[in-house]
Amino acid sequence: MSSAVQASPVIVVGAGPAGLAMAACLQKEKLPCIVLEQHDHVGSSWVGHYHRLHLHTDKAHSALPFFDFPKSYPRYPSRQQVVDYLNAYTRHHQIQRLHGQKIVRACRTEEGWEVRSQDTVHRASALVWPCAAPSTSSGARCSASRS
Ligand SMILES: Cc1cc2nc3c(=O)[nH]c(=O)nc-3n(C[C@H](O)[C@H](O)[C@H](O)COP(=O)(O)OP(=O)(O)OC[C@H]3O[C@@H](n4cnc5c(N)ncnc54)[C@H](O)[C@@H]3O)c2cc1C
Repeated sequence: MSSAVQASPVIVVGAGPAGLAMAACLQKEKLPCIVLEQHDHVGSSWVGHYHRLHLHTDKAHSALPFFDFPKSYPRYPSRQQVVDYLNAYTRHHQIQRLHGQKIVRACRTEEGWEVRSQDTVHRASALVWPCAAPSTSSGARCSASRS
């Protein structure tokens, strides 16, 4: 049952490349945000990929906003280099995160959004959900949204 309540201006769900890029862009616009991630690390899908995987898109076209891949990396970085890059990206932009938060529900409220994990109710004026989302309280699919 969800008990604790946390309030943030903007919630971003998922600390994958899309969520991290979104958080960096929001911060550039001086919009404080928090990223809620179900796993205990960023880039969890890349952490879980097979070890010999490399990007098939070159690093010049794969970098996230405002922070390039290191010059020392090859044109097609390895899985581990992508994971390291995502961690460096998170540190570089000082992206605030809460891990262990699997979001199961998002509801529109008069003030903005109420977003529930297994143990916490998060409130925010705006919600960005760049990864696959469950249903909203009205049954509609919840995707990237702003109040
Ligand atoms: C084998 C493989 C190779 C690929 N190679 C490339 C490539 O070379 N170039 C390229 O551009 N793309 C590639 N892709 C595409 C890949 O999807 C992207 O690189 C990238 O990982 C997508 O980022 P994302 O943030 O949208 O999703 P993800 O990386 O899947 O991140 C989503 C994050 O959200 C979290 N999350 C999900 N649901 C919830 C929830 N309910 N509550 C809390 N957290 C949640 C997940 O734990 C995860 O951390 C590849 C994909 C695969 C499978």
